[in-house]
Amino acid sequence: MPATPAWPPASTPRLFVDQLLGPDAAPVIDGPAAHYLLNVMRQRVGAPLLLFDNRSGEWLGTIADAGKRSLTVRIEKQTRAREAVPDLWLCFAPVKKARLDWIIEKATELGVARLQPVITERTIVDRVKGERLEAQIIEACEQCGRTALPELAEPVKLPHLLKAWPADRALLFADEDGGAPFATIAAAPPAAILTGPEGGFTPNERALLLAHAAVRRVALGPRILRAETAAITSIGLWMGLHGDWR
Ligand code: SAH
Repeated sequence: MPATPAWPPASTPRLFVDQLLGPDAAPVIDGPAAHYLLNVMRQRVGAPLLLFDNRSGEWLGTIADAGKRSLTVRIEKQTRAREAVPDLWLCFAPVKKARLDWIIEKATELGVARLQPVITERTIVDRVKGERLEAQIIEACEQCGRTALPELAEPVKLPHLLKAWPADRALLFADEDGGAPFATIAAAPPAAILTGPEGGFTPNERALLLAHAAVRRVALGPRILRAETAAITSIGLWMGLHGDWR
Protein backbone atom coordinates (compact mmCIF):
# COMPACT_ATOMS: atom_id res chain seq x y z
CA MET A 1 0.00 0.00 0.00
CA PRO A 2 1.81 3.18 -1.10
CA ALA A 3 2.04 5.64 1.81
CA THR A 4 -0.31 8.58 1.38
CA PRO A 5 1.88 11.54 0.38
CA ALA A 6 2.56 13.95 3.28
CA TRP A 7 0.54 17.17 3.16
CA PRO A 8 1.66 19.82 2.64
CA PRO A 9 4.50 18.51 0.44
CA ALA A 10 8.04 19.20 1.61
CA SER A 11 8.43 21.62 -1.29
CA THR A 12 5.68 23.93 0.03
CA PRO A 13 6.93 27.54 0.07
CA ARG A 14 7.35 28.87 3.63
CA LEU A 15 7.12 32.62 4.15
CA PHE A 16 7.25 35.16 6.95
CA VAL A 17 4.38 37.66 6.84
CA ASP A 18 4.43 40.72 9.08
CA GLN A 19 0.71 40.55 9.82
CA LEU A 20 -1.13 38.66 12.56
CA LEU A 21 -2.29 35.26 11.32
CA GLY A 22 -5.27 33.29 12.58
CA PRO A 23 -8.15 31.05 11.43
CA ASP A 24 -10.06 34.04 10.01
CA ALA A 25 -7.08 35.92 8.62
CA ALA A 26 -6.95 36.49 4.87
CA PRO A 27 -3.37 37.66 4.47
CA VAL A 28 -2.49 39.55 1.33
CA ILE A 29 1.02 38.96 0.00
CA ASP A 30 2.53 41.53 -2.34
CA GLY A 31 5.94 42.93 -3.28
CA PRO A 32 9.00 40.68 -3.66
CA ALA A 33 7.32 37.77 -1.82
CA ALA A 34 4.41 37.80 -4.31
CA HIS A 35 6.83 38.05 -7.24
CA TYR A 36 8.75 35.07 -5.85
CA LEU A 37 5.61 32.96 -5.41
CA LEU A 38 3.84 33.89 -8.66
CA ASN A 39 6.71 34.29 -11.09
CA VAL A 40 9.66 32.34 -9.69
CA MET A 41 7.84 29.44 -7.99
CA ARG A 42 4.93 29.78 -10.46
CA GLN A 43 2.39 29.06 -7.71
CA ARG A 44 -1.27 29.26 -8.74
CA VAL A 45 -4.65 29.49 -6.99
CA GLY A 46 -5.13 26.45 -4.76
CA ALA A 47 -1.41 25.97 -4.13
CA PRO A 48 -0.45 25.38 -0.45
CA LEU A 49 1.70 27.84 1.52
CA LEU A 50 3.16 27.81 5.02
CA LEU A 51 3.07 31.23 6.67
CA PHE A 52 4.46 32.40 10.02
CA ASP A 53 4.18 35.79 11.68
CA ASN A 54 6.57 35.75 14.69
CA ARG A 55 3.47 36.06 16.88
CA SER A 56 0.93 33.21 16.54
CA GLY A 57 3.07 30.42 15.06
CA GLU A 58 2.90 28.78 11.63
CA TRP A 59 -0.24 28.27 9.52
CA LEU A 60 -1.05 26.22 6.43
CA GLY A 61 -2.89 28.24 3.79
CA THR A 62 -3.82 28.01 0.15
CA ILE A 63 -3.70 30.72 -2.48
CA ALA A 64 -7.32 31.96 -2.70
CA ASP A 65 -6.81 34.37 -5.56
CA ALA A 66 -3.88 35.89 -7.37
CA GLY A 67 -3.40 39.10 -9.35
CA LYS A 68 -0.31 40.22 -11.27
CA ARG A 69 1.53 41.50 -8.24
CA SER A 70 -0.32 40.23 -5.19
CA LEU A 71 -2.21 37.24 -3.88
CA THR A 72 -4.62 36.45 -1.05
CA VAL A 73 -4.26 33.41 1.15
CA ARG A 74 -7.06 31.42 2.76
CA ILE A 75 -5.90 30.03 6.12
CA GLU A 76 -6.61 26.30 6.53
CA LYS A 77 -5.11 25.42 9.93
CA GLN A 78 -2.35 26.12 12.42
CA THR A 79 0.60 23.78 11.89
CA ARG A 80 2.91 24.94 14.72
CA ALA A 81 2.94 27.19 17.75
CA ARG A 82 5.58 29.95 17.99
CA GLU A 83 8.46 28.02 19.56
CA ALA A 84 10.41 29.03 22.65
CA VAL A 85 13.98 29.76 21.53
CA PRO A 86 16.92 29.13 23.90
CA ASP A 87 17.74 32.34 25.74
CA LEU A 88 21.12 33.03 24.14
CA TRP A 89 22.23 36.40 22.77
CA LEU A 90 25.06 36.90 20.29
CA CYS A 91 26.86 40.18 20.92
CA PHE A 92 29.24 40.74 18.01
CA ALA A 93 31.49 43.43 16.68
CA PRO A 94 30.29 43.93 13.10
CA VAL A 95 32.77 42.73 10.49
CA LYS A 96 32.87 43.32 6.72
CA LYS A 97 29.65 42.79 4.77
CA ALA A 98 29.84 39.25 3.37
CA ARG A 99 31.16 37.82 6.62
CA LEU A 100 28.63 39.84 8.63
CA ASP A 101 25.77 38.41 6.51
CA TRP A 102 27.18 34.96 7.20
CA ILE A 103 27.20 35.56 10.98
CA ILE A 104 23.57 36.75 10.88
CA GLU A 105 22.37 33.81 8.79
CA LYS A 106 24.23 31.12 10.76
CA ALA A 107 23.41 32.54 14.19
CA THR A 108 19.72 32.56 13.18
CA GLU A 109 19.86 28.94 11.95
CA LEU A 110 21.64 27.91 15.15
CA GLY A 111 18.82 29.35 17.29
CA VAL A 112 19.96 32.56 18.96
CA ALA A 113 17.24 34.71 20.54
CA ARG A 114 18.86 38.12 20.00
CA LEU A 115 21.57 39.63 17.80
CA GLN A 116 23.33 42.60 19.39
CA PRO A 117 25.90 44.49 17.25
CA VAL A 118 28.62 45.94 19.53
CA ILE A 119 30.89 48.78 18.34
CA THR A 120 34.39 48.25 19.76
CA GLU A 121 37.55 50.35 19.42
CA ARG A 122 38.84 48.30 16.46
CA THR A 123 35.48 47.86 14.71
CA ILE A 124 36.08 49.07 11.14
CA VAL A 125 32.47 48.85 9.97
CA ASP A 126 31.02 52.28 10.66
CA ARG A 127 27.36 51.51 10.21
CA VAL A 128 25.15 48.43 10.28
CA LYS A 129 22.35 48.35 7.69
CA GLY A 130 19.47 47.08 9.87
CA GLU A 131 17.01 46.47 7.04
CA ARG A 132 19.51 44.33 5.14
CA LEU A 133 20.23 42.26 8.26
CA GLU A 134 16.49 41.93 8.95
CA ALA A 135 15.98 40.52 5.44
CA GLN A 136 18.84 38.09 6.10
CA ILE A 137 17.19 37.00 9.36
CA ILE A 138 13.80 36.44 7.72
CA GLU A 139 15.28 34.41 4.87
CA ALA A 140 17.20 32.23 7.34
CA CYS A 141 14.04 31.68 9.42
CA GLU A 142 12.03 30.73 6.32
CA GLN A 143 14.70 28.20 5.41
CA CYS A 144 15.46 26.66 8.82
CA GLY A 145 11.90 26.36 10.12
CA ARG A 146 11.96 28.94 12.93
CA THR A 147 8.59 30.49 13.75
CA ALA A 148 10.19 32.99 16.19
CA LEU A 149 12.53 35.55 14.62
CA PRO A 150 15.66 36.50 16.56
CA GLU A 151 15.51 40.11 17.70
CA LEU A 152 18.01 42.45 16.01
CA ALA A 153 19.08 45.15 18.47
CA GLU A 154 20.46 48.59 17.62
CA PRO A 155 24.29 48.77 17.63
CA VAL A 156 25.74 49.85 20.97
CA LYS A 157 29.28 50.75 22.13
CA LEU A 158 30.98 48.17 24.36
CA PRO A 159 31.12 50.37 27.51
CA HIS A 160 27.39 51.11 27.21
CA LEU A 161 26.61 47.45 26.67
CA LEU A 162 28.44 46.55 29.88
CA LYS A 163 26.92 49.40 31.89
CA ALA A 164 23.39 48.24 31.05
CA TRP A 165 24.16 44.54 31.25
CA PRO A 166 21.47 42.40 32.97
CA ALA A 167 23.03 40.97 36.16
CA ASP A 168 21.46 37.51 35.70
CA ARG A 169 22.90 36.90 32.23
CA ALA A 170 26.39 35.32 31.85
CA LEU A 171 28.44 37.09 29.20
CA LEU A 172 30.87 34.63 27.57
CA PHE A 173 33.72 36.80 26.35
CA ALA A 174 35.43 34.94 23.49
CA ASP A 175 38.96 36.16 24.04
CA GLU A 176 41.64 35.45 21.44
CA ASP A 177 44.18 36.09 24.19
CA GLY A 178 43.10 33.26 26.47
CA GLY A 179 40.48 32.16 28.92
CA ALA A 180 38.98 28.95 30.21
CA PRO A 181 37.95 26.15 27.82
CA PHE A 182 34.34 26.77 26.75
CA ALA A 183 33.00 23.48 28.09
CA THR A 184 34.23 24.26 31.62
CA ILE A 185 32.29 27.52 31.89
CA ALA A 186 28.94 27.57 33.66
CA ALA A 187 26.69 29.28 31.17
CA ALA A 188 23.15 27.99 31.51
CA PRO A 189 20.53 30.33 30.04
CA PRO A 190 20.09 33.28 30.19
CA ALA A 191 23.50 33.68 28.51
CA ALA A 192 25.32 35.70 25.86
CA ILE A 193 28.43 35.35 23.74
CA LEU A 194 30.68 38.27 22.77
CA THR A 195 33.06 38.19 19.79
CA GLY A 196 35.37 40.94 18.60
CA PRO A 197 36.21 42.51 15.23
CA GLU A 198 38.94 41.50 12.79
CA GLY A 199 41.47 43.38 14.93
CA GLY A 200 40.44 41.80 18.22
CA PHE A 201 39.90 43.55 21.55
CA THR A 202 42.21 46.27 22.90
CA PRO A 203 43.91 45.90 26.30
CA ASN A 204 41.54 48.58 27.63
CA GLU A 205 38.51 46.65 26.48
CA ARG A 206 39.87 43.43 27.91
CA ALA A 207 40.38 45.11 31.29
CA LEU A 208 36.86 46.57 31.18
CA LEU A 209 35.39 43.17 30.35
CA LEU A 210 37.36 41.19 32.92
CA ALA A 211 36.32 43.65 35.64
CA HIS A 212 32.62 42.99 34.96
CA ALA A 213 30.85 40.55 37.29
CA ALA A 214 28.80 38.86 34.55
CA VAL A 215 31.77 38.26 32.22
CA ARG A 216 33.34 34.83 31.81
CA ARG A 217 36.50 34.70 29.66
CA VAL A 218 36.39 31.73 27.24
CA ALA A 219 39.03 30.34 24.90
CA LEU A 220 38.04 28.62 21.66
CA GLY A 221 41.11 26.43 21.16
CA PRO A 222 44.75 27.29 20.42
CA ARG A 223 44.26 28.88 16.99
CA ILE A 224 43.17 32.39 16.05
CA LEU A 225 39.70 32.07 14.53
CA ARG A 226 38.05 34.60 12.26
CA ALA A 227 35.30 36.48 14.08
CA GLU A 228 32.58 34.61 12.24
CA THR A 229 34.18 31.24 13.01
CA ALA A 230 34.37 32.19 16.70
CA ALA A 231 30.74 33.34 16.74
CA ILE A 232 29.32 30.29 15.02
CA THR A 233 31.48 27.78 16.89
CA SER A 234 30.67 29.19 20.31
CA ILE A 235 26.94 29.30 19.57
CA GLY A 236 27.07 25.67 18.42
CA LEU A 237 28.99 24.64 21.55
CA TRP A 238 26.50 26.47 23.75
CA MET A 239 23.47 24.97 21.98
CA GLY A 240 24.93 21.49 22.43
CA LEU A 241 25.68 22.05 26.13
CA HIS A 242 22.85 24.34 27.26
CA GLY A 243 20.47 24.86 24.34
CA ASP A 244 17.83 22.87 22.50
CA TRP A 245 20.13 20.41 20.76
CA ARG A 246 20.18 18.04 23.75
N1 SAH B 1 43.35 39.97 15.04
C1 SAH B 1 43.30 39.33 16.37
C2 SAH B 1 42.24 38.23 16.37
C3 SAH B 1 40.82 38.71 16.23
S1 SAH B 1 39.80 37.34 15.82
C4 SAH B 1 44.62 38.65 16.67
O1 SAH B 1 45.32 38.31 15.72
O2 SAH B 1 44.84 38.44 17.85
C5 SAH B 1 38.21 38.03 16.01
C6 SAH B 1 37.49 37.58 17.29
O3 SAH B 1 37.26 36.17 17.26
C7 SAH B 1 38.25 37.79 18.57
O4 SAH B 1 38.11 39.11 19.03
C8 SAH B 1 37.59 36.81 19.51
O5 SAH B 1 36.34 37.32 19.95
C9 SAH B 1 37.33 35.64 18.59
N2 SAH B 1 38.39 34.63 18.64
C10 SAH B 1 39.26 34.30 17.66
N3 SAH B 1 40.05 33.29 18.04
C11 SAH B 1 39.68 32.95 19.31
C12 SAH B 1 40.13 31.97 20.25
N4 SAH B 1 41.12 31.11 19.95
N5 SAH B 1 39.52 31.91 21.46
C13 SAH B 1 38.52 32.78 21.77
N6 SAH B 1 38.04 33.72 20.91
C14 SAH B 1 38.63 33.81 19.70
